[in-house]
Amino acid sequence: MHSPVPDYLAEVADACAVTTSGEPASYIPELATVDPDRFGVAMATVDGTLYSVGDARHEFTIQSISKAFAYGLAVRELGLEAVLTKVDVEPSGDPFDELSLEPSTGRPRNPMINAGAITTHAMIGGPDISPMGRFEAIHRLLCDLAGRELAVDDEVWRSEMTTSDRNLAIAHLLRSHGMISDSPEEVVSAYARQCAVLVTAEDLAVMAATLTNAGVQPVTGQRVFSGDQVRHLLSVMLTCGMYDSAGDWVSSVGIPAKSGVGGGIIGALPGQVGIATFSPRLDAHGNSVRGIEVFERLSRDMGLHLMEVAPPARSVVHATRVEGSGDDAVRVLELSGTIGFTGAERILRRLAEHPLEERRVAIDLSGVHALHGPARMMLLEATRRMRLDGYEVHLVDPDDVLPDPDPGDGRLLEPLPSSV
Ligand code: GLN
Repeated sequence: MHSPVPDYLAEVADACAVTTSGEPASYIPELATVDPDRFGVAMATVDGTLYSVGDARHEFTIQSISKAFAYGLAVRELGLEAVLTKVDVEPSGDPFDELSLEPSTGRPRNPMINAGAITTHAMIGGPDISPMGRFEAIHRLLCDLAGRELAVDDEVWRSEMTTSDRNLAIAHLLRSHGMISDSPEEVVSAYARQCAVLVTAEDLAVMAATLTNAGVQPVTGQRVFSGDQVRHLLSVMLTCGMYDSAGDWVSSVGIPAKSGVGGGIIGALPGQVGIATFSPRLDAHGNSVRGIEVFERLSRDMGLHLMEVAPPARSVVHATRVEGSGDDAVRVLELSGTIGFTGAERILRRLAEHPLEERRVAIDLSGVHALHGPARMMLLEATRRMRLDGYEVHLVDPDDVLPDPDPGDGRLLEPLPSSV
């Protein structure tokens, strides 16, 4: 069978290709020279499968999409608390290049607008690193995320430096508030070079999939961020990634995302897919017009909105049966599916409301794919209490979904004796 997924992506791209509104960014003169009709869409799964259509292998500059990853690097290097002292995580409702800081603290409002991105950029690599050393550290990170060596567009970099008055003004303002200490010219130059790294939509989809995959690059297997760092980064992308249209984006698309004036948008849906689009025609906020359309369609058609309410969880107690008879009879509770807090609550409620008649009980996890941390604790606590109530509790766990089954009373749960 030929997978319908690429055909579906092509259909979405065709439908959005008719849109020709918006213009490539021109405040960076070199960006105005790109072909406005280029259009590519790519999607990468958590196991590293890549689907793409159109110009998904055409290189363009990453621009502000780099801000999300550089912020992740700052958090990875310094810890969230230290980063928060200099950059807040509040959506600003302002354009990306707004010259403003939080009045009470002097902090930029979030790391996705230029003021926050220049500050996070300048935090990387410790106090003794040179400005270009900092660029190199961020460049290394971007290459690790893409799983290949990425080139830099020197023309776009130089071009941005000829028109960077606004970013220089922001950097001067930041230094006057003690948010950066290096020379504004040097910091802005290295930051603009970070924005001039060349990527394709395919690269970006894999980079997004690394976030989707809790920080592990799905193709190379390299751990780039920890799960906690990714959760924080995705939260900030969701609320601030699309600048002053972030609220619209959350309600119509609902996927943590980041756009860049090079025409790219990435979206990372936790545990599912990384998506990237490339189309240089931008709206007034600096976001790709066709890119937004693609995301809106994918979100709607494929049910990718983060707030999409999942069908109500079915009972995780798949079946119960009795093995043996008389005093030796064992009640086997067969659990199934992926068990999180809600599933565990159902099991506990059932055990609390309908005490089992048999004195011997086995919890059969053969049909369980995954047991989340809190569900594991809840299940173990239930077995501890059942033991206190006089039950003999066993565990059937051939796939080791509940390793180290210690209910906390010093006696590990044992498998069912083979005589039963
Ligand atoms: N390099 C650009 C700038 O700093 C990035 C802006 C963007 O992509 N929104 O202005």
